[in-house]
Amino acid sequence: MSDYDVVVIGAGCGGLGIGALLSHQGRKVLVVEQSNLIGGCCSTFEQKGYRIDLGASIIEFPQVIDWCFKRMGTSFFDEVDLVPVDPTFSAMLSDGTKVTYPLSLEETRKEIMRVAPEDVKGWDKYSKKFQGFIDTALDGFFVSPMNNFTDMVKLFAKTPALLKYNSLFFSSYEGVIRKYFKNEKIIESFSFHSFYAGQPPALLPGHFAMLPYAEHAGVYYSKGGMIGIPKGFQKCGEKSGMKIRLNTAVKKILVSKKRVRGVVLEDGTEITSDVVVSNINSRKMYLEMIGEEHLPWLAKAGLKSYTYSMATPMLYLCLNYTPPLEHHHTLMTLPMEKVNNYWFNHYLKGSFPKEQFGILSWTTRSDPSLAPKGHHIIAVTLAPGVYKLKGTTWDQEKPRLKEEIINYLDKTYLPGLKEHIVLAELSTPSDFEKRLRSPEGAIYALRQDLPHSMMFRPAAKSKHVKGLYLVGASTHPGGGVPTVIASAMIGADLIEKYEQ
Ligand SMILES: Cc1cc2nc3c(=O)[nH]c(=O)nc-3n(C[C@H](O)[C@H](O)[C@H](O)COP(=O)(O)OP(=O)(O)OC[C@H]3O[C@@H](n4cnc5c(N)ncnc54)[C@H](O)[C@@H]3O)c2cc1C
Repeated sequence: MSDYDVVVIGAGCGGLGIGALLSHQGRKVLVVEQSNLIGGCCSTFEQKGYRIDLGASIIEFPQVIDWCFKRMGTSFFDEVDLVPVDPTFSAMLSDGTKVTYPLSLEETRKEIMRVAPEDVKGWDKYSKKFQGFIDTALDGFFVSPMNNFTDMVKLFAKTPALLKYNSLFFSSYEGVIRKYFKNEKIIESFSFHSFYAGQPPALLPGHFAMLPYAEHAGVYYSKGGMIGIPKGFQKCGEKSGMKIRLNTAVKKILVSKKRVRGVVLEDGTEITSDVVVSNINSRKMYLEMIGEEHLPWLAKAGLKSYTYSMATPMLYLCLNYTPPLEHHHTLMTLPMEKVNNYWFNHYLKGSFPKEQFGILSWTTRSDPSLAPKGHHIIAVTLAPGVYKLKGTTWDQEKPRLKEEIINYLDKTYLPGLKEHIVLAELSTPSDFEKRLRSPEGAIYALRQDLPHSMMFRPAAKSKHVKGLYLVGASTHPGGGVPTVIASAMIGADLIEKYEQ
């Protein structure tokens, strides 16, 4: 008799989502989490009376998250106190122009008319294309397993209309955006979104060009901080008996006769279970927790060939003034060409730029209760930062960089900033690695280009070890809060099918 039916390693949204679903199926589930908080990248920590989001700052595709709660007889909107974010974002362009995209498609059209009347037709065509793509692809692509080539063929057989969108997968984000828009201001306003999937516009597959459009289906923030979303899953899971242990790190996954038998914790305790779900980086999990001795040579070679996704330094700012911003999300943008150049000339060469771009996420705009009265919080997602800096380390550079970035923001997007900082913390890729044990500080686990997507991403049902399942950013469909929750639904379906 095993201690649990299922042990889940990691209490990220993927781990808690599947934990709650499997508990709802009547299984005895334990979720173990190495840190002192649930939520992983979608968590909120408290410091001196400020509640600061660690990573994720909004969610898109609320309908996907809702499907998961609906499977447990409730709804996303009942379980999590959501604050609508409208406008979806505003972009401060490098030439000083501000472009704001309201939730309403019609109002957005008017904004495009104001900034670039020649692109209104392009906007209409782009909207039509991606509404069609989302309607066709969302429930099939997002919640169908993609363990092998057959699964992909099955998906296209079930949804033949998807074939119409085939070319998107083989073009780039930039190629698609430039096909519909000609005005450089509009193109610049969409230039940062490619990093929502972890690649520059020139390299990211074209179907991700749906991101700026998809936001018009609803963008939300969770009251009390983004941790509200994983808390919603915790609440549902615990109602069905799910247990969570914090400050509990797994060291090894027990395997015998090619089947998992449970986990060994770092303190040496063994917990037995015939099903183990990994919510952590899958390359690391296979090579360090399962061990190369349990893997065929081809699998080892395949796993070692995976590249970790980009890392992103974050600057958490707690302020005693109202920042000169208007909306929850302000993108600090650069022309698309410069963003690509940044990737090739800085990121890939190991340097971090002075000229910043990224997101100013003013969370107290949506929920003032996150900070003491009259105070504010901005979480700044900076330009992607490569883990291995050339000739130096993040730990060494951190004090200088923090000062430099604050000076830069004070001179550009946030005048007055320096005199109003109560607390400022720079979280580097190396800090992120220490905090969440995410190798190289990767924010989406593995890269999200074609060779790391769909059936090429590690499979949700392990091909090498029976009883081992994967959820979260490391498996299909990839990183992002709604996306990892989709992986939880896929994983729960597979376990229901194969583990009776
Ligand atoms: C800076 C940043 C900004 C982002 N912004 C957004 C956004 O605005 N919107 C959006 O939708 N998505 C965003 N994302 C992406 C999204 O947050 C993640 O893709 C998603 O939350 C990942 O969930 P996950 O289930 O894969 O697990 P993770 O969040 O990676 O959680 C894994 C958990 O496993 C734990 N763990 C690791 N090793 C062990 C071990 N040995 N034993 C036990 N536990 C272990 C970790 O502590 C962690 O809690 C952002 C991510 C980052 C980092």
